[in-house]
Amino acid sequence: MNIDLIINASYFVVAVLFILGLKAMSSPVTAKQGIVWAGVGMILATLVTFATPGMKNYVLMIVAIVLGGGIAWWAGKVVKMTDMPQMVAIYNGMGGGAAAAIAALEFARGESHGVAVTALAVLGALIGSVAFSGSCVAFAKLQGIMNKTWRLPAQNAVNIVLALVAVGMGIAIIRDPANTQLLIAFFVLSLVLGVILTTPIGGADMPVVISLLNAFTGLAVGFEGYVLGNPALVIAGIVVGASGTLLTQLMAKAMNRPISNVLFTPITGEAQGGTAITGTMKEASPNDSAAMMRFAQKVIIVPGYGMAVAGAQHKVWEMGKLLIEAGVEVKFAIHPVAGRMPGHMNVLLAEAGVPYDIIFDLEEINGEFAQADVALVIGANDVVNPVARTDKSSPIYGMPILNADMAQNVIVNKRGKGAGYSGIENALFYGENTRMLYGSAQQAIADVIANMKTMEG
Ligand code: NDP
Repeated sequence: MNIDLIINASYFVVAVLFILGLKAMSSPVTAKQGIVWAGVGMILATLVTFATPGMKNYVLMIVAIVLGGGIAWWAGKVVKMTDMPQMVAIYNGMGGGAAAAIAALEFARGESHGVAVTALAVLGALIGSVAFSGSCVAFAKLQGIMNKTWRLPAQNAVNIVLALVAVGMGIAIIRDPANTQLLIAFFVLSLVLGVILTTPIGGADMPVVISLLNAFTGLAVGFEGYVLGNPALVIAGIVVGASGTLLTQLMAKAMNRPISNVLFTPITGEAQGGTAITGTMKEASPNDSAAMMRFAQKVIIVPGYGMAVAGAQHKVWEMGKLLIEAGVEVKFAIHPVAGRMPGHMNVLLAEAGVPYDIIFDLEEINGEFAQADVALVIGANDVVNPVARTDKSSPIYGMPILNADMAQNVIVNKRGKGAGYSGIENALFYGENTRMLYGSAQQAIADVIANMKTMEG
C-alpha cells in the first residue's frame, strides 16, 4: 500500500481525534475521555512522523521524545493543583518556542519555499517567539519569581513601534531569507516584544493573557505546519488557535475587559484607585455559622482560590451533604475566573464528587442570591467584591461578580485580612449582613461540620 496514503489517512484520524477530544472536554462529565482521545491522537501523530519518507535522525527524535515526555510526566505527577496555571503557561510557551524553532531551522536550511510559504514561516516565527517569551514571563509572575509589574514610559507607543519594526524586518526577510544577521535581529526583537508586552500585565488580567498567548501558539504552530507540509500540525494549530481565541474572548467578557484594554491599560495587581471602605468586620463562630446554614432553606456556596489552596473541597461537600440530608437546598455558584485557571473550581468540585446539577455559572445563579438565606463564601474575594458594581474609580469596576452580598446573610470564610489577587479591599466583608468565619478553609469547615452534627432538626 502507498505509504503517503497511509500517512495522510493517519493524519485524518488524528484530526478527528483532536476535534472529538476537544468537544468532549467542553463538559466535566466527558472531559477525561476527551483528554484520552486527544492524547491517542497525539501519539498517533508522533508515530506517523517516524514513517515519513526521507526522515532521518531517529535517535535524536527518540531522545527528544523520551526527555520531553519524561519531564512532562514527572511535572504532571508532582505539580500541585494550585500551580496548574503556571504549568499551563510554560507548556504553552514551549509550543510557541517549538514553532519559532521550526521556522529558524527552515531558514537555516536555506531551501527556497516561494514568497507565500516564506511569509507564513516569518509570521509563525514572530508569533511563536512572542508566545514563547511572553509565556515565560507569565510563568515567572504566577510562580512568584517575578513579583514586580514594570511599565515603561509611553509603554503603548513602545509596543507599537517594536511591533512595526518586527513586521518591517519580517518583510525584509521574505525578500532576502538568507540574511543571517537580519534573521538573528528579527528573532531577538520578537522575543523582546513578547517580554515587553507581558511585563506590564498583572493582577486579574493574567488568565486572559495566558489564554491569548495560547491562541498565538496555535496560530504559529499552524503556520509552521503549513511550511513543513504537515497536516497534523496545521490541524492541531488551527484547533488550538481557534479555541484559544474563543476562550480569550469569553474570559475577557467575564471580566468585562475588552482584550485591547487588557493588553494596553492593564490592572497592575497593586491596589490603586477605589473609594475607601468604611465599617467593621463582624465575626461568626463555627457554631453560629453551622446554625445559620443548618436552619436555612436555601444556601448558596461560592468557592474561590482559598478553597483550592486549603484543599477544602472534600470537607465543603461533606458539609453540603449534611445540609441536603437536613432538607436544605444547596447550590454552588462558580465565577468564570474564580481560582487561578479557567474551570479551576469545577475541577475541584468534580474531584470531591459534587453532582454537576447543583453547580451553576454566574449568569444562571446570580438572580437567586436574593432568595438565599445564606451565601457561604469560601476563600473567594475578588469574584464577590461589590465595588465592581458601584465604585467607578475601582480598578475592577465593571467586572461581573457573584451577587453574594444580596443574600439575607453572608458568611465569609478566610484566614484573616488578606486581599484577593487584584490586591484591593472588599466591601462585602464590611456589609451589615456579613459575618466572617476566620480560619483556613479545611479546618474552619471541619469545625462547622462538627457543630452541625450536634444540632437536632
Ligand atoms: P482571590 O484571589 O480574590 O481571593 C482569595 C482569598 O482566599 C484571599 O483573600 C485569601 O484571604 C483567601 N485564602 C487564602 N488561603 C486561604 C485558606 N487556606 N483558607 C481560606 N481562605 C484562604 O480569589 P477568587 O477566587 O475570588 O478570585 C480569583 C482571582 O484570581 C481573580 O482576581 C482572577 O481574575 C484572578 N485569576 C484568575 C485566574 C483564572 O483563570 N481563574 C488565573 C489567574 C488569576 P486570606 O489571606 O485572608 O485567607
